[in-house]
Amino acid sequence: MCAVVGVHGTPDAAIWVRRALSALQHRGQESAGIAVADGSDIRVFKQVGLVSQALPESEILKLNGSIAIGHVRYSTAGKNRIEEAQPLLTECYHGMIAVVHNGNLIDQRGLKREVLMMNGTFQTTSDTEIALQMYAQTNKKTLDERLKRIGERMKAAFAMLFLTENQLAILQDPYGFRPLMIGQIGSATVIASESCAFTQLEQMSGQEADCIRDVLPGEIITVGQDGIKATSWMDIPRQRQRCIFEHVYFSRPDSITFGHRVQKVRRKLGQLLADVSKINADIVVPIPNSGIHAGIGYAEASGIPIEWALVRNQYIGRTFIDPLQSHRDNGVVEKLLPIVHLIEDKRVVLVDDSIVRGTTTRKIVRMVREVGKAREVHVAISCPLTISSCFYGIDTPRREELIASRMNVEEIRAQIGADSLTYNTLENLFAAVSPFAQEYCTSCYTNAHPLLDKFNLHTDNGYPERRHDGIQPHPTQG
Ligand code: AMP
Repeated sequence: MCAVVGVHGTPDAAIWVRRALSALQHRGQESAGIAVADGSDIRVFKQVGLVSQALPESEILKLNGSIAIGHVRYSTAGKNRIEEAQPLLTECYHGMIAVVHNGNLIDQRGLKREVLMMNGTFQTTSDTEIALQMYAQTNKKTLDERLKRIGERMKAAFAMLFLTENQLAILQDPYGFRPLMIGQIGSATVIASESCAFTQLEQMSGQEADCIRDVLPGEIITVGQDGIKATSWMDIPRQRQRCIFEHVYFSRPDSITFGHRVQKVRRKLGQLLADVSKINADIVVPIPNSGIHAGIGYAEASGIPIEWALVRNQYIGRTFIDPLQSHRDNGVVEKLLPIVHLIEDKRVVLVDDSIVRGTTTRKIVRMVREVGKAREVHVAISCPLTISSCFYGIDTPRREELIASRMNVEEIRAQIGADSLTYNTLENLFAAVSPFAQEYCTSCYTNAHPLLDKFNLHTDNGYPERRHDGIQPHPTQG
């Protein structure tokens, strides 16, 4: 869970990247960093923390150069080390090279072994360093050829940007798990994880932003003085695997992700959910922020009035970065409070995007019942049951910690203390992203992992290594 940005063709490229990263802050709050190239050198500035603190404008203004890449990184409890922050930079036989990565390499163990056997060394625990090492170890002549070589070896899942002294390059995995878009703003070419970054830069520069297209699976794009050059490095076309969770939760609602307006998909999910749930209730209450657009759709389709009856404290950030479980557990109580007179004695349908471990929902249900004095509390979830961890870049807990991997719907309902519990169906999820339904990865809802099967990556406990293995999403994130 990270965001990447690249800018080419404006004298203050680092400032552009900083502004774009600020729009993409929701994709990672642990650290932020920028690498900028001025034709002969690359400099990196990165720090732990949010963009506003980690990348002070006064420092970023000093980074001269017309090409830059940037990154915000998702938090983990134990590894909040500056060494892990991106961009990663190294100097090798081919020159200087910096990289930023969104995704998760599915075969980290095997790839690391390959690099070590070639006398490579690692300075971080980040899987992204594998890409740098492989780049340094390849003897291919051109940038394109080197990226093709490492792309073939890394398999999935990666949306990566590379920076040399005078070029920006994009490497997308053959399945297209993570979103990446190309835009043009004035004379600058911009690459970003989400289109909301383009809107932000449009506002900053006063120049119109043109979203050109998505980066295609298996594409290498180089941007340099000679313009933009795109090639496909895939030998055979593969079945696309766009991440459905980008629509359910991860992307910003004002972004266009994988060709769909995220807000529209969420609203549609809410509308379809209302048909599944058919609960008699007095009010629909979306859980902010993650349930907002599904809640609007639910209210529209059911005809039940919506009430914004849960107030989120906007001054508390995403408390899941807090390493202490006890703080995280209390977080939800501090972050959300009910407007009692809207809820009192009402039959309430709470709408949210997901139940992961079940701790958040249980606390919210209890709060709405006890503090809000609701008569009935029903819960409607806009996605299907989350039964598998993700190995392709979304941080979900281990499978055994996912409540839906241990319990059926009725057991979960009892556990969270709701009067009823409804999940959306997989068919509805597909309907909301139609006509591209078959091009999505839905493994978190099906536990089908064709890529892990194909590359035989199941280990003793059934799972490959993940970058943030075992780190749970925080209950109060939303
Ligand atoms: P839980 O208490 O684990 O059931 O948390 C569910 C809440 O976490 C929902 O409100 C979701 O919006 C949010 N959520 C879902 N997936 C993630 C994730 N991968 N990382 C962080 N938060 C998430």
